[in-house]
Amino acid sequence: MTIDADVLVIGAGAAGLFAALACAGATHDADASDTDAPLRVVVLDAGKKPGLKILVSGGGRCNLTNVRVEASDFDTDAPHALRAILAEYPARTARAWFEAEGVSTYEEPLGKVFPKTDDARTVLAALLDACRRAEIPIIGGAKATAIDTLDNETVVVRTEIRDYVARAVIIATGGLSLPKTGSQGAGYAFAAAIGHTVIPTVPALVNLKLEAGSVLDGLAGVTLPVRFDVSPEGTTPEQRCGRKYAPDASACGSVLVTHDGITGPAAFDVGGTALRAVADGRRPLIYADFWALARPDGAWPLFAVGGKAPGACIPPDDMPTVTSFAEFDADMTRIAGAKSIAGALAITLPKTLAARIAERCGVPPGKTWSGCAEGERRRVWTATCHAPLRPIGSGGWDRAEVTSGGVPLGELDRRTLASRHDPRVRFCGEVVNVTGRLGGFNFQWAWSSGFVAGRSVRAALRRRHG
Ligand SMILES: Cc1cc2nc3c(=O)[nH]c(=O)nc-3n(C[C@H](O)[C@H](O)[C@H](O)COP(=O)(O)OP(=O)(O)OC[C@H]3O[C@@H](n4cnc5c(N)ncnc54)[C@H](O)[C@@H]3O)c2cc1C
Repeated sequence: MTIDADVLVIGAGAAGLFAALACAGATHDADASDTDAPLRVVVLDAGKKPGLKILVSGGGRCNLTNVRVEASDFDTDAPHALRAILAEYPARTARAWFEAEGVSTYEEPLGKVFPKTDDARTVLAALLDACRRAEIPIIGGAKATAIDTLDNETVVVRTEIRDYVARAVIIATGGLSLPKTGSQGAGYAFAAAIGHTVIPTVPALVNLKLEAGSVLDGLAGVTLPVRFDVSPEGTTPEQRCGRKYAPDASACGSVLVTHDGITGPAAFDVGGTALRAVADGRRPLIYADFWALARPDGAWPLFAVGGKAPGACIPPDDMPTVTSFAEFDADMTRIAGAKSIAGALAITLPKTLAARIAERCGVPPGKTWSGCAEGERRRVWTATCHAPLRPIGSGGWDRAEVTSGGVPLGELDRRTLASRHDPRVRFCGEVVNVTGRLGGFNFQWAWSSGFVAGRSVRAALRRRHG
């Protein structure tokens, strides 16, 4: 049987293109400086044009990585494996690769890295130019329909145009987010066909719809900083302030209230966890603490970008804790003076929200903070720092930036990303169950995982064929 390529990469998105470059030794790593004949690498893509999702990313600016990338910035079934893969190809190396390819970059206060052109086309052009120099053909319109591993030496990828035969294959078909860019879940079927389980998928980094009746009802258009925690219903304010408190997910950042729910970084970062709980029938709650970041002496204003709220959350390790009653009481005692409760809250919170909170906690309108009994002050604290929001759905796959779920990372070899069921098949990018928070983490996963899959297949084929 004629071999078409040493390696076939299915999917010409961020992960597939980077994996192809690593296979071809074009990622500037030490292993790539050998003088052996280059591997023949071919990229197949269902779409006519490669990298469509890169072009729409970051509002067209492409937030290509983050200055600080930790395993805690991601949700996955295998955090240790994730840590090892990120260490193999860290953010600074990815950034240096783009810089060396002519993409000058800059960073925002919360670490998001962008090309200086503020144009995602610069990032895609660098990847495609590197592929062209490495003589990697990218074949469009080649939708893969099945992968057959006929014998120990060859893999056949069946596509809508013809069959392709290679020695190894890398599956980089993305997840289900923004399906018009070509990612429609094909990789999950390929994974299942060789024996993998597939963790059920839910949209992530997506706007959330809330059950009517929350404190945010009717406040569409309001933007404010918030701490969100996804926790089971019945979690008390005191539990949330305790040292052992372990929410299912947390985020501290900006949120925008919409006509039917919430959007923006803080909503995005808890979205996947909340939606998975909804899908599992667990009726989760998102508890909102509107004070933790808005506190009069808080650090939040330092993160502003050009006077605007930053487009990312505070790193998990730096998040302020849930506001305790003692902290809230001390702040209010200091700032409230002769103001009404609504007036005092409005010193730091949006006026409409402050009025809504005051109305909900049943303190007579004319009362001042110092005139309230402790029970009343505690009710104001609870309404401000422990407001329950019930997620009931999302904007769906057309609005989701990424997919939560997919091929378990724990079912792949952590050094090579090869399938434990068939070592000729590797996976990288969004098809794998690794979901980063907002801020360049998902592209970093694409670069790191693409690099590990590509470099390891290169090493394996060199060993096998001299
Ligand atoms: C609106 C939006 C904005 C985003 N902004 C950012 C950002 O600024 N920073 C960040 O880090 N992340 C961002 N993301 C997430 C990021 O874009 C993804 O994590 C990343 O692009 C995933 O790369 P991938 O290569 O794994 O998958 P994809 O980019 O989805 O690529 C998969 C490729 O596989 C091809 N394919 C699928 N099935 C087949 C098949 N059967 N045969 C052949 N080819 C197939 C598709 O056509 C596609 O080209 C954003 C996402 C969206 C939707």
